[in-house]
Amino acid sequence: MAAICSTCEFIRDVFEAARKDAHSTYGPVIALLKELEQQGRIELFAGDCPLDEIGQHLNGEIHFTVCHYFKCTSHKRYYGEKYFFIGACVRGAPRFNVLNSLENEKIATMLWGKTGMLFEQHSSYSPCFKFK
Ligand SMILES: [Zn+2]
Repeated sequence: MAAICSTCEFIRDVFEAARKDAHSTYGPVIALLKELEQQGRIELFAGDCPLDEIGQHLNGEIHFTVCHYFKCTSHKRYYGEKYFFIGACVRGAPRFNVLNSLENEKIATMLWGKTGMLFEQHSSYSPCFKFK
């Protein structure tokens, strides 16, 4: 489906721009996503840690990656599900991905932490992928 909502479009454009200079844009993009989350336009779907703790994990270098999946909550159902992946790596460039589905994402093996909706709402959330 070609049409996307304004929040998705906004984040997609931000990610596109951020990729050009991933190292210096990671922090500002996280701050932006945090603001959108506070406005209720997106939610932290699954992540390694609360957004406020990212800095300490990357600086501590205990984990080599810090990854977060966000889900757009702004748009109507007919746009389908939309996820935004942002991942920082101690040794490499951060990644910014827009995802139409989590089918091919190995969330369980990728994440070392358990923060976000996926882990809070086991009872009411029925994932379209197998989560182990
Ligand atoms: Zn959206």
